Amino acid sequence: MKIDITKKLEQLKKDGRKILGCFPLYPPLELFYAMDLVPVVLWGLRGSVPDTAESDRLLQNYTCSVARHLTEFVLSEDSGLLDGLFMYNACDTLRNLPEIIEKGLEKNGRSLPLIKVHIPMVLPAQTDASAYFKNEIHHLVKELEERFDVSFSKDKFVEAVKKFKHVRNLMVRAENRVTQGRLSFLNFADAIHECWFSTVEEQIRILESLIEGLSGEVEFSTDNNTRHGVILSGILPPPTSVINAIESSGLRVVGNDIASLGRSYACMPEISEDPGAYFLDFYYQHFPCPTLLYTGDRRTTSLFGLMEKTGASGVIFVGEKFCEYEYFEFPHLVQQLKDKGIQTLEIEIAIEDDAQTSAHDSRISAFAELLKSNA
Ligand code: SF4
Repeated sequence: MKIDITKKLEQLKKDGRKILGCFPLYPPLELFYAMDLVPVVLWGLRGSVPDTAESDRLLQNYTCSVARHLTEFVLSEDSGLLDGLFMYNACDTLRNLPEIIEKGLEKNGRSLPLIKVHIPMVLPAQTDASAYFKNEIHHLVKELEERFDVSFSKDKFVEAVKKFKHVRNLMVRAENRVTQGRLSFLNFADAIHECWFSTVEEQIRILESLIEGLSGEVEFSTDNNTRHGVILSGILPPPTSVINAIESSGLRVVGNDIASLGRSYACMPEISEDPGAYFLDFYYQHFPCPTLLYTGDRRTTSLFGLMEKTGASGVIFVGEKFCEYEYFEFPHLVQQLKDKGIQTLEIEIAIEDDAQTSAHDSRISAFAELLKSNA
């Protein structure tokens, strides 16, 4: 299923919602909801822009596809669908992107409120940055109030926190169906992708109907038990053709360490009426991701935990071309897995891989054969 993101945003506008385009991966969604804004995370935009003509004027061609697609989307979207942009610091690619987008908009005679937060990327055990961080969140609340004529309420915040906890639990439940072989990874990834461009209430509806619609259904029929379980790791799920190649090669995706999927919904902070305390917990206890530098030490442990929990026999690393944050960690992770006798496969997805991913098919088949022969 292909999600028409522009159509989804148009519907939100028709419903009178204010939309905040967010990047990178883990914005404070609950806070935006509590303040009557609908945050949409600007990732997975491959296919939502015809090309990258606008962004190519501003970004080098060795920038990752995530940044190029999101820049293109914001610059070419001139029908007022977005009411503002939010970003926090993550990788080097994104660090100056807000200013670049700002200039690009200016050249096109447009402007959008740009709201930024700085997350200290220090190890909490070494440097206590909690006061600084809470102050950042405090300023964020004030800025949202002033820019969007909205007000913060503790009750609405707690309500939003509870709803998101419910959404994350539903995402985990849906993922469990994938692990059990009752739902294809492709349908699962599509549903989660749709959630990132929907209100929290709609997300609940999408996920509940996905889970309820499965009763008694087994996607992978009788060979379910003979399929070798693999975990996918990367920033985005691979393109549909690659997922199809994985699922038709006799492999079963039993877990994921994907930033736009598992890493996003794994974190379940304690309910709190104080956004500073809540997001301190959210960011510093977050499921490890190379873009949150201070989580690096926990990365291997979390991946091994996932292997153990799912019984996977291999890991497929889906590298986003030019994403150095992910690529820096691959050699270390591959070696650690190899030392434990776990097979790995690395594939790279580039911006031009929109439709032509057949080169990966034979490597995926060979990997499936390898897992079978090792069983
Ligand atoms: S894919 Fe990597 S380089 Fe690109 S925006 Fe995400 S973290 Fe940064």
